[in-house]
Amino acid sequence: MARTAGRHFLQIPGPTQVPDRILRAIDMPVIDHRGPEFGVLGKKVLTGIRDIFKCAGPVIIYPSSGTGAWEAALTNTLSPGDRVLMYESGHFATLWKGIAERMGLQPEFIEGDWRRAAQPEKIAERLAADKAHEIKAVCMVHNETATGCTARIPEIRKVIDDAGHPALYLVDVISSLASIDYRHDEWGVDVTIGGSQKGLMLPPGLGFNALSDKALQASQNSTLPRAYWGWQEMLAANGNGFFPYTPATNLLYGLSEAIDMLLEEGLDNVFARHDRHAEATRLAVDHWGLEVLCQEPREYSSSLTAILMPEGHDADALRGVIKDKFDMSLGTGLGKVAGKVFRIGHLGDFNDLTLIGTLAGVEMGLGIADVPHKKGGAQAAMDFLGA
Ligand SMILES: *Cc1c(COP(=O)(O)O)cnc(C)c1O
Repeated sequence: MARTAGRHFLQIPGPTQVPDRILRAIDMPVIDHRGPEFGVLGKKVLTGIRDIFKCAGPVIIYPSSGTGAWEAALTNTLSPGDRVLMYESGHFATLWKGIAERMGLQPEFIEGDWRRAAQPEKIAERLAADKAHEIKAVCMVHNETATGCTARIPEIRKVIDDAGHPALYLVDVISSLASIDYRHDEWGVDVTIGGSQKGLMLPPGLGFNALSDKALQASQNSTLPRAYWGWQEMLAANGNGFFPYTPATNLLYGLSEAIDMLLEEGLDNVFARHDRHAEATRLAVDHWGLEVLCQEPREYSSSLTAILMPEGHDADALRGVIKDKFDMSLGTGLGKVAGKVFRIGHLGDFNDLTLIGTLAGVEMGLGIADVPHKKGGAQAAMDFLGA
């Protein structure tokens, strides 16, 4: 293969670019995970990560993908045959539903159109009808990475409360944590599910469950089998900074650095930075004369933008041109929108010039692939960022 100069533009909505500071933190000798040095690292990350989830209680850290953390949240809190309420916001919600089915749960899937996030009114309707309280958990995806729509998590909490419904509230923040405002405790979430490779700026390989007291109680009485994912064994070992089995030691070095970086910048500044880059991206899309997939402005995602191709043009052909010519990876269309959309990830370790480089690459690609558009979208974003 010929050498490609310069750093690859990894502008998919996760995994994201890992900053040098984190790469250097990870580049350390592996230590004894039962030894005293490890306990110090373990305690630091197990405490520090709570600030990122805004969770005063425990946050479990697994050596896993986000999918593993999904399974962990379900298997620790529910029993075979339990009904769970899910919402078809897009591809990731659909995958989570498939996992619930395979685990022997009975998901009820509220139909969605993939252009909006989960709608609180529809959840309210379903909960009001569930007089016998057969639904044991409401499972929502905060930021649907396939569509670029962000759900109103506190409003959904409110409809659960207004219905006087005792269901647990489980929320996937895999592509919103450390990019979009999220508050586990304040928003009354019972299990928050996270992953390392998106807003946290780490390589893939860590999964998270942030817990409420109610979730811990549910785990005492629920009966789905749990071994690798068991919270109790984790919590027993975590008290001293240790893990019941070999943790991903070097990723934890990276996590420690990522937490420091996020707190140095300030989470509110991190969120504002993502909001601003998302807005600049939409200005560019608008100028090109293309359409953002998300149809509800108050649900626009700040971590990624999914863009619809004009009729008769294939999104993956465009992505291929951009990869070949400019060494940039953009997100593919997933599930129902395969071929119809491409996605720009603007999350993680990302600044104004990263965005302008990204948008310039897309704009040049649109030209080369003969996709009808109006030139100057990148300029529109520059005008906004430079103002
Ligand atoms: C990436 C992602 C997942 C899946 O995480 P993996 O680490 O690929 O298992 C789940 N949900 C959302 C919202 C995601 O963005």
